[in-house]
Amino acid sequence: MIEDLDQAASADRHEVDLCIVGSGPVGLAIALAFVGRQESVVVVETGGDAHEPATEALSAVEVAGHRRAHPNAVRRRIFGGTSSVWSGRCMPFSALDLQHRSWIPHSGWPLRSEDVDPWLAPAGQLLQAGPAVYDDRLWAHLGTRPPAQPWDPSRFVTQVFQPSVVRHERTRTIPAPHDPSSGGLAALNHSSAPGAEDIGENARERLRSSGNVTLLLHAHATEVCTDESGRRATGVQVRSLRGARARIRARRVVLACGGIDNARLLLLSRAPHHPAGLGNAHDQVGRYLMDHHYAPLGSIPGAMATALRRRMGWRWFRQGGQRHLYLTGASLSPQRQREEQLPRATLFLFEHPQRAAALSSAARIARTLRGRDAGIEPGDVNNVLGHPLELLRSAWEWRRHGLPVLLPVERIDVGCNVEQLPDADSRVTLGSTPDAFGQPIARVDWRLHDREFAGYRRTAALFAEECRRLGLPVATPSPWLRSGDADWKQPLHDMAHPMGSTRMSDNPRSGVVDRHGAVHGVDGLFVAGSSVFATGGTSNPTLMAVALALRLADRLRTRQAEASGPAAWIESAAEPRLRVGLVGGGDRVRNQYRPVLAALARRVDVVGIATRSEAGGRAAAEATGYRAWPSPAALVEGARPDVVIAVIPGGANVGVLHQLLGLGVPVLGETPVAWSLAAARGVVGHARGRGLPLGIAEQFPFLPAERLKRKLVELGVLGRLTAVVNDFATYDYHGIAQLRAWVGAEHPAIEVVARRHAFGRSGVPDGAEPATRELGWEETWLRAEIRFAGGCLGVHDYSPGFSVLPTRPAGSLRIHGQCGSVVDESLVMADRVTGAALTQAFRRRWTEGPAQRSLAGIEVAHPALGTIAWENPFAGAPLTDEQVAIAQHVAAFEGVVRHGAVPLYTGAEAALDMALLEAITESADRDGARLGLPRQPQLARVQRIFRALRRRAGLAA
Ligand SMILES: Cc1cc2nc3c(=O)[nH]c(=O)nc-3n(C[C@H](O)[C@H](O)[C@H](O)COP(=O)(O)OP(=O)(O)OC[C@H]3O[C@@H](n4cnc5c(N)ncnc54)[C@H](O)[C@@H]3O)c2cc1C
Repeated sequence: MIEDLDQAASADRHEVDLCIVGSGPVGLAIALAFVGRQESVVVVETGGDAHEPATEALSAVEVAGHRRAHPNAVRRRIFGGTSSVWSGRCMPFSALDLQHRSWIPHSGWPLRSEDVDPWLAPAGQLLQAGPAVYDDRLWAHLGTRPPAQPWDPSRFVTQVFQPSVVRHERTRTIPAPHDPSSGGLAALNHSSAPGAEDIGENARERLRSSGNVTLLLHAHATEVCTDESGRRATGVQVRSLRGARARIRARRVVLACGGIDNARLLLLSRAPHHPAGLGNAHDQVGRYLMDHHYAPLGSIPGAMATALRRRMGWRWFRQGGQRHLYLTGASLSPQRQREEQLPRATLFLFEHPQRAAALSSAARIARTLRGRDAGIEPGDVNNVLGHPLELLRSAWEWRRHGLPVLLPVERIDVGCNVEQLPDADSRVTLGSTPDAFGQPIARVDWRLHDREFAGYRRTAALFAEECRRLGLPVATPSPWLRSGDADWKQPLHDMAHPMGSTRMSDNPRSGVVDRHGAVHGVDGLFVAGSSVFATGGTSNPTLMAVALALRLADRLRTRQAEASGPAAWIESAAEPRLRVGLVGGGDRVRNQYRPVLAALARRVDVVGIATRSEAGGRAAAEATGYRAWPSPAALVEGARPDVVIAVIPGGANVGVLHQLLGLGVPVLGETPVAWSLAAARGVVGHARGRGLPLGIAEQFPFLPAERLKRKLVELGVLGRLTAVVNDFATYDYHGIAQLRAWVGAEHPAIEVVARRHAFGRSGVPDGAEPATRELGWEETWLRAEIRFAGGCLGVHDYSPGFSVLPTRPAGSLRIHGQCGSVVDESLVMADRVTGAALTQAFRRRWTEGPAQRSLAGIEVAHPALGTIAWENPFAGAPLTDEQVAIAQHVAAFEGVVRHGAVPLYTGAEAALDMALLEAITESADRDGARLGLPRQPQLARVQRIFRALRRRAGLAA
């Protein structure tokens, strides 16, 4: 329902289960999570459905510190909030952003990236971004190779952004943010994307038709009410500018008023028990205000910028008939941040367009000629006729290489955004000027720090060096970078991203809300939005704010909001549950998948099991207790699973995967996808052609210790990787998957050399009879050296006998980097002062369940980053490491099916492992031939045939 306080009949409303204050993307994310449920919800919103200057005036602030852009330019009071004018760039926080960093005061969130990651896909979907791929998996996702020469990871890493894309017709006109007095505001419309979704428009119909969620417009919350003790929230007081008033009584209240007003409303809610405002017992409300300040590091004339624009430019991707856009930029690498004690910095290109691209004009003309209303523009014909060479070049690049068309630009700026340092004195307080309700407006004392300027300068120098190294154009530095330290702040303004004013901390003395958004000391009161961020990073805040809001909504829905401790994935209930079908009846289903699916029972519904024979299906059903279906086809047609998990022997995989994909159902398969690369590629191509997700439950890179290792790499703890080694530890394609996961998809394998060494029978002297089969093992070693882009060496030593022979030691896995090593489950670093080796063993944490203990997490200590941990999302369930890995793959399918996310490990990634393994085998067959990668499949086949013929003719291979 959508109502207006000015027209609402009753002044006092009934008690509701939940009151949300604010209908911006954050408030709406929570409200939409309740649509169709039993709980009654009311969303109160100051604004109406149209732009109203008098309402916007309620956002006025007194500026006490560094200048702020005009409030009307950076906040909107209207249904949909500021998303009615935002530019829609989405980017998640990195693992390092959330980690304690000894060189950034007050850093360290009480959350880890694995607490947030599952919410990125639904948040992106709500904001109308594409599939949630924000890291180096982008290349595999797009089906392209990363740039041939990667950034030097000791300096920069690729940063992926996505824009929100308009999918709903706009029904209202909202003036664009404009405030001449603040200057440089064009940077606020920084996404350069075609236009961003207005989340109000997006949500309107669902709210209008909802029976349990009411949106109350023109209802400005003036106070959060509490019981007599002041320790429990009981609702909010609302007023309209036309004089209407109401009291909303609610069991729970969530403030989602934006980065300034969340703090202001808490400060305004004063009562004898809390004279300084609610949640402010320790004078924390309003402190640590941060924003992003945009600054150009330099410019490059448009004609010279092509190579840089291709590297840090747009990529697009079609899925389900929709076009999604990805933009790549660069961030200061974690290693560089730590070594030079720098705040985070992110770079992206800011384009100053000249005119439309000739190819875009041509496309509009062509569509119009075909009778479609393509919105042809006046200059289109001249644009095409006047730039024939550009037209041909862009058409070639687009058709041949799938490269997006480059807009002709006058110049590009290398834009930069350096993270602000949290500062308790940078704050929102109450001012002395009253608003239209007679309440004090916010007083904003926003502070900038010289270390941020140092961050800009250093980033500019590093970027110039890196561009020179890579042969990219180097920007002419902006004059402000050369200014004296005293006036560096002058050209900077905020980016409409106020953060931190009700920051998250588990300690009430250093924050306002806990890790879930619950206000310390006030039951039933929660805060959502960027005001809860503990540090500001460089990520545009809305994606993270919405992800955290969805996480909070999930807790509120499962009624554990007041309970302490982390919300494990397995505790929350999905609606509806993910419908999972199983194909296969072997031991793996019983011993591995059944316990996993039982642990996920609140989110997953197993709809049945089938094998290729009816009798097999019945036997499998008997063994597992699942419903039997006579065949995979019957299972898919009869039970309508959201995903089918195929747990079958490798030899049968290809046929069954094709069959399932042919039935039009998303599939989670097991390794090996196939015994030949060509067959694996066939399955991947089939899935791609049908637009169906194909995940592969490759477990080795997802084992708990492996997750922590990957995190150590991401956090730059090891620095630039020099070598990754599988020393007879992990079976062949699993070992390759591990090596690739450590190195990261941005650094693909580019060369391989391998040899096979045969030693005859091992374990017993020649001629002696082996006592056991193991002692008679024919020992053959496969030794492969892999060169990855960027220089890292991969060593893959493998012998089947190693895992069998009692005389061979257990294998070892090692990752070596410039700054340290991981040896199996230990981190090895050097003491910076004495140079002595410091070895820290990984430590497992356990939770004690009623029957069995379960893994809570795995962690290791680091001198600068404190405790680095991987938290087990399935803590509470007594799963083995392998089962935890499987559970991650199954759980990820919830996002895949519901929110268009990408499987944790795709069929395409599994095919990359196989391609590498095939190249290793080929090199070994050719006695150590040096092979460049990727291998051209046709060429490789011809060479194979040629070698076979030579062998047959008795010539050496
Ligand atoms: C020009 C521009 C470009 C931007 N571009 C990006 C971008 O590219 N990427 C990005 O991530 N972010 C961007 N932002 C920021 C983004 O808009 C905000 O992060 C986002 O809207 C915050 O969502 P929210 O729901 O927390 O707050 P808002 O969207 O600000 O919504 C808060 C709502 O609460 C209401 N409200 C406030 N106080 C009260 C009260 N007392 N009672 C009742 N209702 C109240 C307001 O009227 C408003 O509707 C941009 C902002 C601007 C201005």
